[in-house]
Amino acid sequence: MSWLDTGDDDDEFDEASIRMRPNPKANRPRTKRRPAHSDARIARVLGVDRGRYTVLVDEDGPNEHTALAVRARELRKTPIVTGDQARVVGDTSGSEGTLSRIIGLQERTSLLRRSADDTDQVERVVVANADQMLVVVAAADPEPRERLVDRYLIAALDAGIRPLLVVTKTDLADPSGFLSHFEGVEGLQVFTSAQGAMPIEEIGRQLVGHSTVFVGHSGVGKSTLVNALVPDAHRATGHVNQVTGRGRHTSSSTVSLRYHGAEGSGWVIDTPGVRSFGLGHVDPANILAAYTDLAAAAAECPRGCTHLPDAPDCAIVEALAEGRLGPNGAARLDSLQRLLATFAERDRNAAARP
Ligand code: GDP
Ligand code: ZN
Repeated sequence: MSWLDTGDDDDEFDEASIRMRPNPKANRPRTKRRPAHSDARIARVLGVDRGRYTVLVDEDGPNEHTALAVRARELRKTPIVTGDQARVVGDTSGSEGTLSRIIGLQERTSLLRRSADDTDQVERVVVANADQMLVVVAAADPEPRERLVDRYLIAALDAGIRPLLVVTKTDLADPSGFLSHFEGVEGLQVFTSAQGAMPIEEIGRQLVGHSTVFVGHSGVGKSTLVNALVPDAHRATGHVNQVTGRGRHTSSSTVSLRYHGAEGSGWVIDTPGVRSFGLGHVDPANILAAYTDLAAAAAECPRGCTHLPDAPDCAIVEALAEGRLGPNGAARLDSLQRLLATFAERDRNAAARP
């Protein structure tokens, strides 16, 4: 093929490798030749391992199968994550030894991100196109941390994802004290185990027709829950480091798994257990918004109120003093103020930088 033939192609794509695929239409007049990328198929990215993506081709079609793909050179700086809808060319048969190529991504409906810490604005993309986040916490072992859950809720809200909360290990402790922290969060659905048994069917119903990313600190029982919902998932569970006694996350990569229930199917996206969930990338306005009860009170705040302890006439502080924020108002306001203070400091540091 002469260099002339590539002249009117979109050079965004690696045409050389695309053309390795036998093309029966190659002899048609040039002017009528379709651009090579119109041959692309849309495939769901399920996971990535050492630069090789497992993609699902012909999803829900008669020929649904997985194939391996690499990313086109042009995309090497584009994060491609589980849940992405990729445009794939080349050999997508999925046969042993074949490799296809991702040449682009469909527009994402959502993007869940996290940063290493709150002051780090370098973000890591966790999952694309999820519309629900299922936060898993244990009633004990490890101790539930309200503020970590607050962070998940903020990240979900910031990404436009609906949060759900599941409490495991209620055979070990009563989670009601912990859960009261979230009573003020409007619309948050909570699932807890009863007599040590998780309400698997009830949780499963929430997954139908959705793409739900599961998050949680390692050791909370997230893998156990994923395995109960997706029996062929085979997520490694219960690997506890005997020396430190701490759970070690054995499921080290993020994967999409198909949930099949009596009422339909959905996608479960399992992420490795994370110790922290940095919010450096989050729009600070979304921090207050995640505390729906406090945000309602803040409607009466003076313009530009920081809601920090030294803010004059903060309506959230007044609502708390008047007992309008419920029994856990003080703890919730404390959680909010700590996060807001971190962000205020981040912005001060950013402003001070030359
Ligand atoms: P992950 O790190 O969040 O994936 O946690 P795992 O699913 O590996 O579970 C960590 C440990 O907690 C394992 O030993 C599980 O058997 C145990 N576990 C999970 N769910 C429960 C529960 O509801 N009650 C109790 N007591 N232990 C549980
Ligand atoms: Zn205020």
